[in-house]
Amino acid sequence: MSTDGAIDFPTGTFMHWCESCGLEELLDSRDAYDAGWDFPPHMGTRGVISPRTCPNCSIKNTAWWAIAIEDHGIDEMTPQERKAVGRILDELPPTTSG
Ligand SMILES: [Zn+2]
Repeated sequence: MSTDGAIDFPTGTFMHWCESCGLEELLDSRDAYDAGWDFPPHMGTRGVISPRTCPNCSIKNTAWWAIAIEDHGIDEMTPQERKAVGRILDELPPTTSG
């Protein structure tokens, strides 16, 4: 089946970043998954808050954990967590519908 016209999120090489330790690596998404990254599209969805962590970090240090598990509001989050949320929401490509 062709998926022409569907939004095709990159499954190739793109920047992976860890919201916990700040590590950034240009990785193939499959290699990243094999290495232990929690990162879309294999783990989670781009533009949706979920853990963004490198193989060395726990998801307990993510904005997702603070929101979903610890039930923190935005004003209870650390600056680092807020920054991660902003960066996650920024992952979606600009829509050019119409
Ligand atoms: Zn990390």
